[in-house]
This record gives sequence, structure tokens and C-alpha cells, in this order.
Amino acid sequence: MKGVTVLGSTGSIGVSTLDVLARHPENYQVLALTANRDVAGLLAQCERFTPKVAVMADEPSALRLTEALAGKGIPTEVLCGLRGLETVAAMREVDYVMAAIVGAAGLLPALAAVRAGKRVLLANKEALVMAGRLFMQEAETHGAEILPIDSEHNAIFQCLPPDRGAGLEDRGVKRILLTASGGPFRTTPLPALKTVTPAQACAHPNWEMGRKISVDSATMMNKGLEVIEAHWLFRASADKITVVLHPQSVIHSLVEYIDGSVLAQLGNPDMRTPIAHALAWPERIESGVGSLDLFQVARLDFEAPDLLRFPCLRLAFEAVHAGGSAPAILNAANEVAVAAFLDERLPFTAIPEVVEETLQTLPVVEPESLQGLLAIDAEARGVAEQAALSRV
Ligand code: NAD
Ligand code: MG
Repeated sequence: MKGVTVLGSTGSIGVSTLDVLARHPENYQVLALTANRDVAGLLAQCERFTPKVAVMADEPSALRLTEALAGKGIPTEVLCGLRGLETVAAMREVDYVMAAIVGAAGLLPALAAVRAGKRVLLANKEALVMAGRLFMQEAETHGAEILPIDSEHNAIFQCLPPDRGAGLEDRGVKRILLTASGGPFRTTPLPALKTVTPAQACAHPNWEMGRKISVDSATMMNKGLEVIEAHWLFRASADKITVVLHPQSVIHSLVEYIDGSVLAQLGNPDMRTPIAHALAWPERIESGVGSLDLFQVARLDFEAPDLLRFPCLRLAFEAVHAGGSAPAILNAANEVAVAAFLDERLPFTAIPEVVEETLQTLPVVEPESLQGLLAIDAEARGVAEQAALSRV
């Protein structure tokens, strides 16, 4: 029996994780659940799973949840804020931590799980984009296992031979092929992009996801963040990572070897597959995902991404080449720009402009510490807010 904490349990990945866990009550015990401000959502999950602890982001929400739980006689203890998240990520009886908070807010709780030496099921790619070097170093120091939940990285993990500390070249790997659907605007005429709405940007053709990652998929910043994520997870230089547009989202990514072999992982686009894989690894468990019907799929298409249509992808490659603080700046500016777009304060096409201006304004430095990184993140948010305001 493994004890599990689900950080961000009310989100898209959190709900899929609980769906998989509920299929295997004999193997997993849900010990802690967390949400931002969705009291009703977390209450319903507590009723179903009776975790030991539930965490809300702020005190008023925590108080409301405490009262509601008491009213129903549910014995779950309620904590709040970052301290609460770090506590449930590191609790002694917890074996596995699903890191599924969205954005930079997920970094410190995920890092707490890493420092406690847990198996970390990493959905929160922003943690690696901001602090990849530190995150991977801490995992090594504390013996934490990091298993990728992002479908592409989970696919790559499945197609790679065991790590055993060797680099990609030593394992005969030539390159990583990261697939991308191209999102809802892959073929939209470029002039029409100026006026797209949040609802249009969040209507992904193949995946149902949270709003922030849906916008990231529409700009392809998501793929840019994933290039940086792959760079840290698999110790791959950016020139060994090729992005391939594959509109059907059936191949989740591929690994090419020096002998010409190319291994791919395929499946229906449903996050319960990588979640079940990471929970059970190296075993396999049932996930609830149906069989892939290749006759129904019938064809698989591939094309090169157009960097004029998707400037965010270009910016992410530039940031990974620049190194140091550039990815953290890129990530912070993108979060600010996406939030402004979702609030209808910024046009869709201004998202990459805000990110580029922020990257041009701030110097690239080598962050010395976690505090240094958090300061860079805060500074980049300030610059990006100004850049967004000037484009309203
Ligand atoms: P979501 O918006 O649906 O859910 C986010 C969760 O985090 C919610 O439970 C929310 O309450 C919580 N949260 C948000 N802000 C918080 C804060 N400041 N403090 C504490 N908790 C907070 O997002 P999602 O789509 O589930 O994505 C989660 C992460 O997984 C993201 O990093 C995303 O990039 C990654 N991811 C998602 C998918 C997907 O299919 N949804 C696929 C790959 C990777
Ligand atoms: Mg992905």
C-alpha cells in the first residue's frame, strides 16, 4: 500500500489522478489533497477519499472547508498556505507525491517532496523550467525519483533504456522527437489571431486541460516549456530535441537511436495513461483508458512547426540556449501574459511580445540559490506587467 499526496487535486490532472487511484484502492491510500480556493471541490473529494489532511491556499478558504468538513463529520485536518503544501508534500507516511499545481506556485511544494526523497510524479513543468538545475540536483542528493507526467516526457521515458546515470549519447540516443498537436490555431489565418478569445484559445482539439496550459498550447509556449523540461529531465542539449507537429496527438513522442531505430509511445490522448504509468512504474496498472483504435485513427500526419506563427516556441529555444536565468524569466513573463489574456486585458498575439520584451529587458545571470531564482521570477513579473499594460 502506497500513501499518496495529490497537490492540485481539484485541477484537470488532479481529477484524472484521483480517477486512477480510485480504481486501485488496495494499492494506494490518498493521504492529502490540496486546492487553491475551490472549497466545494475539495470538500467533495474529502467526502470521497477521507484524506488525513487537506490544504487550501488561504485562511478564509481553509476556515470554510474546516466548518464544512465538521458539518459532515469528516475527520480530515485542514492546513493552509505554502507551509501546508510543504507539510503534505513531505509527510513521513507519504510515498508518492503528484505535483499538479499549475505555474510557479507549484515549485516550492514540489521541491519539498523532492527534498523529502519521495517519488515525485511531476506534472508541474514550470518547476523544471524555473529551477531545473537545482531541482534535479536536489533529487539526486535526496534520492527522490522523478517520474514525468507530461505525456511527451512520459512517452520519452518509456522509450529510453534505463538511466543508470549515463548520458543520452552513452545510451545510443541520437535525438528526442517531441510531438505537438499545434493547438487550435495551427491553420487559422495569421491576421485572425489578433482577435481570438480565451474561450477559442482554450478549446483544444485533442486534450481537455486547465486554462493556463490550454493557452500555452495555443501559443505553443507549452512545447517551448516542454523542450526546457526535456533538457533537464533527460540531460539533453536543445540541439538534440526536435519538435514535430502531429495534429492527431496519438504518438506522444519518440526517441531516435544511432542505429536508425525510432521508438514511439502511442495511445489515446488521455492523461490517465501517463499517470497510471508513473504510479505503477516499473509495473503496469489499468488506467481506465480505452484501447487505441488504429483503424479509426487511420492516418498519422507530421509537419515542421512554423516559428513565425508560433514565436513563443522560438523564444523558448532562445532561452534554453541563453541558459542561466533566461528560462525562469521566460516562464514568469509568460504566466503574467497568459493571465492578462485570460482576463481579456491583452490580445492573444501580444503574449509573445510581452515575453520577448521581458527577456530583452532583464540580464541573463546564473542564479546562485533558490532565493536568487525567486527574486528573478518576481522581477520578471514586474517587467512583464508593465509590458502588458503598455499593450492594452
Ligand atoms: P488546472 O488549472 O486544471 O489545476 C491546477 C490545480 O492547482 C488546481 O487544483 C488548483 O486549485 C491548484 N492551484 C492553482 N493555483 C494555485 C496556487 N497558487 N496555490 C495552490 N494551488 C493552486 O491545471 P492542470 O491542467 O491540471 O495543470 C496542472 C499542471 O500540470 C500544470 O503545470 C500543467 O502544465 C501540467 N500539465 C497538465 C496537463 C493536462 O492535461 N491538464 C498535461 C501536461 C502537463
Ligand atoms: Mg505535454
